[in-house]
Amino acid sequence: MKSELNKNNLVFQRPRGTIDIYPPSSFFYKKVYDVVTKILTKNNYSLIVFPTFEHEELFTAHLGDDIIVHKEMYTFSDRKGRKLVLRPEGTLCTARMVIQNSLLKEGYQNKFYYWGNMFRYERPQKGRYREFLQLGVELLNASGIYADYQILSLTRDILVSLGISNFTFRINYLGSKKTQKSYELEIKKTIQNSKFELCLQCKYRYENNPLRILDCSDCGYSNIFPEYKIVWNNEDKSYVESLDNFLAKFNFPFCYDYSLVRGLDYYTGLIFEVSLINEKTAILGGGRYDELYSKIIQKEVPAIGFAIGVDRLVNYLCENKLLDSERKIDLFFFVTTNIWYERLLSLLDIFKNNDLIIDYNLKPKQRKYLSKTIEYYRPRLLVLLDKEEQIKIIDCLEKKTLWTTLDKLTQNIKDIFSH
Ligand code: AMP
Repeated sequence: MKSELNKNNLVFQRPRGTIDIYPPSSFFYKKVYDVVTKILTKNNYSLIVFPTFEHEELFTAHLGDDIIVHKEMYTFSDRKGRKLVLRPEGTLCTARMVIQNSLLKEGYQNKFYYWGNMFRYERPQKGRYREFLQLGVELLNASGIYADYQILSLTRDILVSLGISNFTFRINYLGSKKTQKSYELEIKKTIQNSKFELCLQCKYRYENNPLRILDCSDCGYSNIFPEYKIVWNNEDKSYVESLDNFLAKFNFPFCYDYSLVRGLDYYTGLIFEVSLINEKTAILGGGRYDELYSKIIQKEVPAIGFAIGVDRLVNYLCENKLLDSERKIDLFFFVTTNIWYERLLSLLDIFKNNDLIIDYNLKPKQRKYLSKTIEYYRPRLLVLLDKEEQIKIIDCLEKKTLWTTLDKLTQNIKDIFSH
């Protein structure tokens, strides 16, 4: 049914850049949530939940000037004048939570995941919203190739278990902050020696965060810069070589993208993104951030994580018909008279402990609405509770009807489902 609202009625229009999620696409969200939760739990990752808003300084201190200066954050003041921000991402919220609640224990890794809406004031377009859902995973107190591989393989397992098979991880190795500084000099040199005009935003980036010039879709110059690997030192090279060998041994689908920089301030070492076939935007991204915690608590906490854009993932699954969109009701009781309700409720108790999806009409309906009801609910079985003596079970899939009595009803339903 088309919306009956007048377009000028702003109160009932959702704000620009936001989305409504309802059936059938909400079934996909639920499915994604179930699949990822199962995989992460099996790998001993635990759920964390942090507030939707945090103090502004948490982000201004660690995200990098670029995002803040270009006003991508939803910042507001509360009644006491405190500056707060609707969270734009989860890695810093995790760090704040872990530090505030003393969750780190030396010598032990921490494994967390979160599922939450994030807010960024971006120009809305397909797959880019101002409020969007992310699944984030953070592995803390863990360095080295096995930790990097755990995160990469976990990400791959999530995609594969959702039926996505055709993808390659684009990876790059940023190295330490010193290596990054050397590359920034290379970027500046290239720009000085070329006649390219930078966009307004990149003129600012040139001074403050040259790495992000590579992310700019307006300038589109990422391919004029030398490959990142020219600034790798011996330590970087030896890590990359071991990682390459390891990934190749496990047939991991990856390729180097030396223009990938993921311009947030906190990244070091391995970074990666996955874009799915025929999609312009990345479905997920992540990387190592070994120096973030030491900046806050003067303690070495090597860490790596990733975030999946759940809305983009669900769009992809829907468009490519990779999940069954229909939630099927197993059993619908069509009640035509009030005398049935008490018995129906005791009957439902019997089915409480199995996985059947069951529904019934909460007020008696005339029998003439039976076929309309089947069409609307599309149940596997419909039980017509009409006259007292005889009950009709309609197997809507097999298109068969069975007459039964109240005594036999439960057994008959069980028998049909056991086939
Ligand atoms: P990021 O935190 O920028 O690394 O983003 C991680 C993932 O979140 C991206 O790969 C996207 O799939 C998703 N994402 C980021 N920004 C948006 C947005 N504005 N709208 C929808 N999804 C987004």
